Amino acid sequence: MSQAEAGASPGRPSSVAIVERIKHHTADTRSLFLRPTTGPLAFLPGQFLSLLLAVDGALLTRPYSIASYPGDGELLEICLNEVPGGRGSHYLCSLAVGAQINFTGPWGTFVLDQPPAAECIFLADGTGIAPIRPMLRRVLESEHSLPVRLLYRAEDEAQVLYRNELMSWTRQHPRLTCELMLPTPSDGWRGLHGTLLEHVEARYVHGDDDCGRHFYICGVGPAVTQLRDLLRGAGYQRRAVQYEKW
Ligand SMILES: Cc1cc2nc3c(=O)[nH]c(=O)nc-3n(C[C@H](O)[C@H](O)[C@H](O)COP(=O)(O)OP(=O)(O)OC[C@H]3O[C@@H](n4cnc5c(N)ncnc54)[C@H](O)[C@@H]3O)c2cc1C
Repeated sequence: MSQAEAGASPGRPSSVAIVERIKHHTADTRSLFLRPTTGPLAFLPGQFLSLLLAVDGALLTRPYSIASYPGDGELLEICLNEVPGGRGSHYLCSLAVGAQINFTGPWGTFVLDQPPAAECIFLADGTGIAPIRPMLRRVLESEHSLPVRLLYRAEDEAQVLYRNELMSWTRQHPRLTCELMLPTPSDGWRGLHGTLLEHVEARYVHGDDDCGRHFYICGVGPAVTQLRDLLRGAGYQRRAVQYEKW
């Protein structure tokens, strides 16, 4: 989905949310917890908000996935990293508690509402974990007993987001496997290293002939569409490979 499509807000008036809390994950990554002034917002795991940002006299529209889970209170969490030279993310990262943000949404078709009766593999790159987090939880809270796997790549160990929560989910749900990945391993790193593409190709393309799995992919740039094309080209059904590219 392009930014333009993602930011489209055909005919829907904007709403207002107040930044109620800010959590700093790292120096350049944070979660903003937003309280819509009109009350709780219904959304599906994986959907996003289109934020309307008044920056230096211009109105920027920037989509941000909802990282929280539907029904977990009224606050909507968005999790973002400050992109070097990026006007929207820089503006958002400069906001303080009490700031007001206009938004439309929820939007988006990269959603997981009814978990498929198949093994689910989630592939998250960086802050791409944001929409995956509620999707994963939706699968874990379903009555399926099929395996669920998260392959999550971060730039370095400090940037692995929601790590404690993910580890606690693996203890609560034996069918869940979370594998963390860094581009290059740091001292004592016991997870994977390399790229998502390499691991996905080795396991799910050359590893066996099972093309029944469902994939949910989210991250920045061409790595996302490369994963999509790899899997669809290997015989996984189109609708079984869902993705969102930022
Ligand atoms: C549907 C959708 C959901 C999104 N959800 C999130 C989210 O939950 N969290 C989030 O951080 N971003 C998310 N993004 C990206 C976000 O909308 C902005 O593009 C991003 O914050 C950069 O905006 P900017 O104005 O700072 O920089 P821009 O000048 O608009 O972008 C500069 C460059 O940064 C790239 N970029 C976009 N996102 C990132 C990123 N996270 N890290 C590094 N480079 C990036 C863009 O591809 C572009 O090439 C989402 C994008 C889409 C389409």
